[in-house]
Amino acid sequence: MTSEEHPPRTAAVLGLVELDDPFGAPAGWTPTPRGWTVIGPNPYGPSRVAAFDFSGPHADRRTPLTLEELRATVSRIAGRDIPMRDARFLDRFSDYARLTHTYRSGRVLLAGDAAHVHFPVGGQGLNLGIQDAVNLAWKLALRLRGWPSPWLLDSYTAERRPPAARTIANTQAQLALMTPGDTHDPLRELFTRLLRLPDVSRHLGDMISDQDVRLPRSPTQSPLTGLFLPNLPLTVERRPTSVARLPRPGRLVLLVLGHEAEDALRKALAPWDEVVDVVPATSEAPLPLCAALLRPDGYLAWVDDESGAGAGPAGLEASLDTYLGRRVP
Ligand SMILES: Cc1cc2nc3c(=O)[nH]c(=O)nc-3n(C[C@H](O)[C@H](O)[C@H](O)COP(=O)(O)OP(=O)(O)OC[C@H]3O[C@@H](n4cnc5c(N)ncnc54)[C@H](O)[C@@H]3O)c2cc1C
Repeated sequence: MTSEEHPPRTAAVLGLVELDDPFGAPAGWTPTPRGWTVIGPNPYGPSRVAAFDFSGPHADRRTPLTLEELRATVSRIAGRDIPMRDARFLDRFSDYARLTHTYRSGRVLLAGDAAHVHFPVGGQGLNLGIQDAVNLAWKLALRLRGWPSPWLLDSYTAERRPPAARTIANTQAQLALMTPGDTHDPLRELFTRLLRLPDVSRHLGDMISDQDVRLPRSPTQSPLTGLFLPNLPLTVERRPTSVARLPRPGRLVLLVLGHEAEDALRKALAPWDEVVDVVPATSEAPLPLCAALLRPDGYLAWVDDESGAGAGPAGLEASLDTYLGRRVP
């Protein structure tokens, strides 16, 4: 499978080492005119020590990092000697980024770092990869259980590639903000002021956590379709529960919050009742929906509201036809 690639511009070194003077080392993330040191001093054992060198990429990323190179690089970036010894772990990495053009080629499916790599700033790689797996797992399971819709596997690239592209872009933006030198100081000052605005900080938090991912939907569907349903408190059969407690493995949930056509909805999903649980519920908070089909990964597959945006039972049936198709008895 082919990939879009972004060549490295920055070289990073990382080690788990004993610091000779843990109290004298610059603790935390420290900008310098040459790059950054990132040191977690531990006076009782090994310390995590890293440096980001903005002068250019590694000459050869495959050359094993030595304790001497780690010490020399960290000391050069810090501007003073940081003596260290007894390395337990040493590695080098960079801002090289890669994103596969397709997450699926026939029976081969990519997830995690096999599909996307980027500079680890913001700690987003693991979450991104886990969400790939969560997006794919239920679709694969239903496909293997005989549900014939091509959407089940064809939707994977369309749903997961855009969040990865966005993550790569935000790591590049973070690195641009970390560029040493006073030319970038006005940008950092502006960004610091922006971060104090609650809407900006919420937007960036949602982006880094991927909570605001919006999956593709057709323009005729409710605007809530394709959004992640937060873990709202609900009452089901007079007992308090919440959205996260509803899904059962490999099954979708039809959440009915007082839909006037509940019986017709149940009838419409008869061909899929083996994999869809119907859960009538009430919510204390007023919600802008009266029925919703919840995917096993927590995203809304179909939504109906009082304006009729989901087209009632016929809309539910059309959605399930797309998502799962019909099994031949
Ligand atoms: C310095 C650094 C710091 C990071 N910090 C964070 C962080 O704070 N938060 C965060 O979310 N992410 C972080 N990341 C990113 C995160 O580590 C990765 O995104 C994540 O580990 C990817 O997981 P993965 O399972 O997709 O791939 P990997 O972790 O690479 O796992 C793939 C596995 O497959 C094995 N394998 C490869 N080929 C074969 C084969 N042919 N047969 C069998 N097995 C094979 C490999 O040995 C490996 O164990 C960081 C990355 C780096 C480099």
